[in-house]
Parts: sequence; C-alpha cells; structure tokens
Amino acid sequence: MVVINATANNNEILTNNKNEKIMKFELPKLPYATNALEPVISKQTIELHYGKHLQTYINNLNNLVVGTKFENADLETIVKESDGAIFNNAGQTLNHNIYFLSFSPNGGGEPKGKLAEAINAKWGSFENFKKELNTAGAGLFGSGWVWLAKDASGKLSIEKEPNAGNPVTKGLTPLLGFDVWEHAYYLDYQNRRADHLSEIWKIIDWNAVEGRY
Ligand code: MN
Repeated sequence: MVVINATANNNEILTNNKNEKIMKFELPKLPYATNALEPVISKQTIELHYGKHLQTYINNLNNLVVGTKFENADLETIVKESDGAIFNNAGQTLNHNIYFLSFSPNGGGEPKGKLAEAINAKWGSFENFKKELNTAGAGLFGSGWVWLAKDASGKLSIEKEPNAGNPVTKGLTPLLGFDVWEHAYYLDYQNRRADHLSEIWKIIDWNAVEGRY
C-alpha cells in the first residue's frame, strides 16, 4: 500500500508498506497550454520534450534512487552530491523543472528592478547580455545548457554546462537556463540552434526569472 502524505516542491512523499517514507519526483504542472508558446516552441516539441523526455528523466531518477542514500533527498541535494546515472537524471530533472517554468505566452520584453540593474552592471545593457548568452549557447559543443546564474552576493554570470550540468554544483543559483540539446529545438528549427536561441527571448517569463534572483 502506498499512501500519499503531501505534495510540495514537485515531490510526493509516499509511505511504503513498511511505513518508510519514499520521495517521489513528479512532472511539474505547466502554467500554459502545450500550444501556447507557438510559434517559438511548437506543441509537438512541448509534448515530446516535457511529456516524454522530462517524464523519462523523472521516472529514471525515481527508480535509480531506490535503496541509495538519495532515496529521501531533495532534488538539489541529489544534483550536488551524486554522479553517474543518478546525477544525469537528477540534473536533467532539475534543469527542465527550471526551464519549463521560465516561459509564458505573454513573455518577452526585458527584466525589471534589481535583476535588470545587475544585468546592466555586468554586461552594460540587456541587449549585450542577450548577445553573450546566445553566443555561449550557439558555441556550446554537443548537448548541454547555458545558464544565467548568481552567486551568494547576487553577482551574475553566464555558465556553460555540458550534458546535465547545473550551476548549483558550483555553488551558484540558476536563474534562467537555455536547453541546447537537439531535442529542445530540432523539430522546429532543425540544425539552426542560433535561430532557436534568438527566438526564445520572446517567451521568457521575466516575473518567474526575477523571482529566482
Ligand atoms: Mn531537454
């Protein structure tokens, strides 16, 4: 028998028949319809990327942590302390949870307030920051992520991470991440990664990103 006790932070705490608690990761709910980000990201890409790729990472993670020291750990702790298959699936779960909650059909424009000030302090202008992040994403060889991250003092940086990498492993806080794995853009842009990156700014939910700063 499995009893659902609570749902918080995208985790369900389950109890097995020996009354031991089991953390179970779940798909985050999307705050938009699967076709709402078109034409920047198609319904088909969302359905595959969110519904299949992310779901598979989550299923793999739930299966892999059973019987390990990570069985009851939160996602960020697993990403910071694991390696191998557990790291890959935990990293991709964390990465995509941030990614899919960074978009809105009413997104775009520019950040405001403290985040805007920090971007201007680091890169001179929002336009220049965009250019730098796009260049980092287009120039990352193979599969990976480019991140806007902050350190403990609020200073910003652009972090290029291969494969399942996330800036939390460097003690940084991820604010915004662009997925440059081919599965993120190939159906809509084929080999034109740079075109995908230049379009994606139109759907960024800056309220969500500012909330992480
Ligand atoms: Mn992806």
